[in-house]
Amino acid sequence: MSQIDIKKFNRTVGRKKKGLAKFLRAFGKSEKKGILKIAKQAETETWKEIQCLDCGNCCKTMTPTYTRKDINRIAKHLNMTYQEYFDKYLEKRRDGDITNRSTPCQFLGKDNKCSIYAVRPEDCAGFPHFYRRDIRYQAAEKTYTNNMLYCPATLIFVEKLEKAIGEDL
Ligand code: SF4
Ligand code: SF4
Repeated sequence: MSQIDIKKFNRTVGRKKKGLAKFLRAFGKSEKKGILKIAKQAETETWKEIQCLDCGNCCKTMTPTYTRKDINRIAKHLNMTYQEYFDKYLEKRRDGDITNRSTPCQFLGKDNKCSIYAVRPEDCAGFPHFYRRDIRYQAAEKTYTNNMLYCPATLIFVEKLEKAIGEDL
């Protein structure tokens, strides 16, 4: 595998985002049975085509949302107090979310590896949130519509979903 060409990805997603957003709106409202099975298949096929270590774009351009538990765990790992960690790296946003203060993430290495992988935030561990029981809700809430702008795997995943059931929602 070679490094993902993010400029090319940005052009591709720019071209496709409107059509895929329309599909995701319909997907979010769909009552079709078997959607989870199709999503699982789409996820499996997606990870045959792309590897996160060739990308790292989420860690370069987005920020995780931290829980208090995340902060306690990571601070302990770094021999810091909760407050020391917060003051050094984090901010509380207007909506109450606690996030990194800046991007790229302070823990992203040059090799696209996370230096705190074993204790990383739950949000990072779950990203890009493909196979979930509440996948329709996530689609309706624009989780994939927003994430596909940054995440090449999400673009592939959504295209696979559309190909599998776009005509049949
Ligand atoms: S904590 Fe690790 S996985 Fe999460 S954004 Fe930072 S580098 Fe990426
Ligand atoms: S989750 Fe998406 S954006 Fe993050 S490294 Fe993997 S493919 Fe890239």
